[in-house]
Amino acid sequence: MAPANYKVLLVDDDPAMLRLLTRWLEKAGYSVCTATDGQEALEVIEADCPDFLLTDWEMPRVDGLELCRQMRAMMLPHYVYTIFLTVRTAAADMIAGLENGADDFLTKPVTEGELSARLQSSSRVLELERRLSLLAHTDFLTGLLTKQTFFDSLEKEWHRSSRFHLPLSCVMVDLDFFKQINDVYGHPAGDSVLKFVAELLLDNCRASDTVCRYGGEEFCILMPETDEGEAAIWAERIRELLAALRIPTGEETLQITGSFGIAQYRDDSQNPEELLKQADKALLNAKRSGRDRIVGYTSLPDAANTDLSPTDHHDEVFEKMLARDAMSPLAQCPHEQDTLDEVARFFLHSGSSSTPVLDGSGTLAGFISEKDILAVMTSPNCWQQSVSTVMRRNVICYEEDTPIRVVYDFLCRVTIRGVVITKNGYPTGTINRNSLLRWFHDWTVGKELDPQTLLRHSLLGYSIRDTASA
Ligand code: GH3
Ligand code: MG
Ligand code: MG
Ligand code: MG
Repeated sequence: MAPANYKVLLVDDDPAMLRLLTRWLEKAGYSVCTATDGQEALEVIEADCPDFLLTDWEMPRVDGLELCRQMRAMMLPHYVYTIFLTVRTAAADMIAGLENGADDFLTKPVTEGELSARLQSSSRVLELERRLSLLAHTDFLTGLLTKQTFFDSLEKEWHRSSRFHLPLSCVMVDLDFFKQINDVYGHPAGDSVLKFVAELLLDNCRASDTVCRYGGEEFCILMPETDEGEAAIWAERIRELLAALRIPTGEETLQITGSFGIAQYRDDSQNPEELLKQADKALLNAKRSGRDRIVGYTSLPDAANTDLSPTDHHDEVFEKMLARDAMSPLAQCPHEQDTLDEVARFFLHSGSSSTPVLDGSGTLAGFISEKDILAVMTSPNCWQQSVSTVMRRNVICYEEDTPIRVVYDFLCRVTIRGVVITKNGYPTGTINRNSLLRWFHDWTVGKELDPQTLLRHSLLGYSIRDTASA
């Protein structure tokens, strides 16, 4: 890195010395700040941490040795390479200096050439330290901060907020139905989505905000001096930008939405983790109430209640219902080694228009529909081809004990018409939009109507079918 990227703090009680060194260092391109004793230096370091500390030993109030010792005890954002500029040359002094945190010594009177050479050689150490720190603190895929680094920042900001009574907000974002992107388009496409989302967040936040990858497809943003209302305005803008994002992958472009939970630091809050818990609770509520939306913790019906009760309508409607309750059971399915002729016969006889395909061990291998056969049926030897050459392998599956609400949410939002239901990986049924609609209609109407009315409905159903087939 060029000297211009390094900040040097010069500390000396001799103004002539400070002037001379400042001139040399500025000529070499460093950015320089000064302090006239250890006490002043500690204040400068706390406000704006330098890369190098060049300090005299003998000074009033706090001397160089004590400055060094106190600085090493501070929580600083990065390592400060420290050099003593002193007339002391005794081995005992050097040992004391090193033991208190110094990295190097320059004996006064110092020359311009030696000072510049020492800084240059030490900058190699700093560069290495910065690179290691970057690896330790940033997420490899997105380049965002890691969860651990986020906690450090949260701790600091939380205490600053409580000391100065400043607002502080936390926004948690979880991408909606992200697993399906991996399932349908593959893991690299999922990775690409995560990178685009990270870039969008970084491009749209302030330098004082902390943006981290909180988990797989979860992000967390800490916004100092921002209240919940302001954070909600920001989050709404991000929600819109996210929904409008078109992410290229192969020949297609992907779209994604996110759910947002927001919480604000409160004077009565006990610890920093509470802020995260509240944002998480608001996020859970955003998921449950339909996704692609923002929920603020204070808007929750009972913000003090830690149990999120399922209050929104379709949670109540679907309560305790599982995928197995609504699926159409599979009677028989083709195997991947069967010919297209056999599958065509299967469709013609069963009346169904699509079916899961099994492999030799009976687990799910793929999915084939009439449309897939239509696409190849005019090619030579079509009927002798095996199903495995035509079927689609990206199949959306849910286990039988998945809450039906999850399947419902999915089918409401995507263009895919149906999903396969499995039990320990073995397909046992399917749910598509039509069967879900029929199940729900039968179930709810059936619940409300008396047997007479039900009978009328079923007769009506027959007459409609009869008219249609006539
Ligand atoms: P919801 O709307 O309820 O949040 O559904 P979802 O599918 O987003 O949530 P779920 O927790 O079921 O799935 C999260 C998925 O994120 C599962 C995991 O495979 C995927 N994931 C986690 N980390 C990575 C990653 O680094 N790269 C990719 N491609 N996928 C990841
Ligand atoms: Mg002195
Ligand atoms: Mg998640
Ligand atoms: Mg998610």
